[in-house]
Amino acid sequence: MTTTFSFEFFPPRTPTGERALWDAVRRVEALRPDFVSVTYGAGGTSRDRTVSITHRIAAETTLRPVAHLTAVGHSVAELRQIVGAYADAGIRDVLVLRGDPPGDPRGRWLPHPGGLTYAYQLVELVRSLGDFRIGVAAFPEGHPRSPDPDSDLRHFVAKCRAGADYAITQMFFRPEDYLRFRDRVVAAGCHTPIIPEIMPATDVRQIRRFAELSDAAFPEDLAHRLEAARHDPATAYRVGVDHAVAMGERLLAEGAPGLHYITLNRSTAAVDIHRTLQDARSLSAR
Ligand code: FAD
Repeated sequence: MTTTFSFEFFPPRTPTGERALWDAVRRVEALRPDFVSVTYGAGGTSRDRTVSITHRIAAETTLRPVAHLTAVGHSVAELRQIVGAYADAGIRDVLVLRGDPPGDPRGRWLPHPGGLTYAYQLVELVRSLGDFRIGVAAFPEGHPRSPDPDSDLRHFVAKCRAGADYAITQMFFRPEDYLRFRDRVVAAGCHTPIIPEIMPATDVRQIRRFAELSDAAFPEDLAHRLEAARHDPATAYRVGVDHAVAMGERLLAEGAPGLHYITLNRSTAAVDIHRTLQDARSLSAR
């Protein structure tokens, strides 16, 4: 079975950020990934930038763009319009998400009065609008709002059955979390491919912030090694890349269908991890 590899970008806020993004996109393009995705912001101009970046990737590169889309603050009519605009631009890949309450990701979720409450409803909507390849989110450690693991699993499986072609996970740092979740999904009779998301952990403060926001457990030994290299960015980089490579090797060996790398619009670590994994795999295939 062939495995996929892909990269995630976000819409930058500044002209410098914009230049960094396109630089990273071009470097990633040279690797010929299966797709690249662009996250959807909490509102306004950031959302417009997601749409324009995704369009530009479709028009000006050889890459296959996946547009993230959330239900936050949109009526169903608006969601239809956005999906229609993607289709007009030749974009056939949408990563469908519920999204979090704007301002406070842990705040109370309130749907738009004319909108949707759960991601599975947006999956059904996008499915009804055309021949899209639809991805959804998966949470190996459970969605932070889920009251218990069983209902979390049940809702994930229902979302896949609503019409998802694949899922991409939240970032995680212990392969066992992914493997346990994947096995529970399969045991529930659901065979939707679940692609692990790989976050290069090269900066301990930044990673702790992300991990807290996403509720991902951060292994203490990795944190210690990164803390120890706090004033030595080259060593911290090596620690983070080596951890991600070891995780990627284990996940692929255990049958993960691909890897989705977070780039933070700086491709270096993600590309390094990917190249190291590719070299190791082509060596072991000989
Ligand atoms: P859902 O699948 O709707 O789940 C949300 C909660 O509702 C879960 O607790 C679930 O168990 C529960 N639930 C689901 N169905 C039911 C039901 N029928 N009855 C009761 N409870 C139910 N956010 C952004 O804003 N922009 C992005 O670009 C973005 N990209 C992401 C990419 C990935 C790979 C991942 C993993 C997350 C991303 N997110 C993004 C974050 C995501 O929007 C949030 O984590 C959000 O809280 C959950 O979205 P969901 O699509 O999983 O929601």
